[in-house]
Amino acid sequence: MTQQSLDNNKAIVVFSGGQDSTTCLFWAKKYFESVELVTFAYGQRHDTEIEVAKRIAEEQHVKHHILDMSLLSQLTPNALTQHDMEIEVGEDGIPNTFVPARNLLFLSFAGALAYQTNTKNIITGVCETDFSGYPDCRDSFIKSMNVTLSLSMDKDFVIHTPLMWLDKKATWALSDELGALDYIRYNTLTCYNGIVGEGCGECPACELRAHGLNTYLAEKGEN
Ligand SMILES: [Zn+2]
Repeated sequence: MTQQSLDNNKAIVVFSGGQDSTTCLFWAKKYFESVELVTFAYGQRHDTEIEVAKRIAEEQHVKHHILDMSLLSQLTPNALTQHDMEIEVGEDGIPNTFVPARNLLFLSFAGALAYQTNTKNIITGVCETDFSGYPDCRDSFIKSMNVTLSLSMDKDFVIHTPLMWLDKKATWALSDELGALDYIRYNTLTCYNGIVGEGCGECPACELRAHGLNTYLAEKGEN
């Protein structure tokens, strides 16, 4: 019996509406004929996040799957899902925005969706360079997950991580190469305080994002 092989022209992007996953969306559109997005709703700090993701999907004319993962916030009361908690870094170097097993679960569900839609490629914007202290953003985890997903469904999935070795400056450079720098700059949501585009300018996510952008624009001679 020959198994039907997955369609290599198809890709699913794990999508939050932030800078990184939106860069992945544009990257995917460059390399694959058919791109779909999957967003996980898990009681994010800001409902805005889902709305931003929806709007970008519409504007970029891509099919958008939104999956309910609200059980995550039941399991892990922390600073990403509890609106009244301050963001802090613990003694172990892991910030309290860490949601245990989040990427493990997200990639599992993205894999299940890829199986259903006969999609070979799964794209995630995780990154080891600006290491946030999240162990499930590491390259070794992604490689292990790729093997696990493929074994679990007997399909040859490929997980792509175009940002894995890029710092924020290089991620901005990539978005510029893809012709999407301004779109990403003004339409995505990275800010922990829920402010779209340039953000609040004060939270750790805004600092990292602005530092990368300013360094990139300065080197390019535009700032
Ligand atoms: Zn902010």
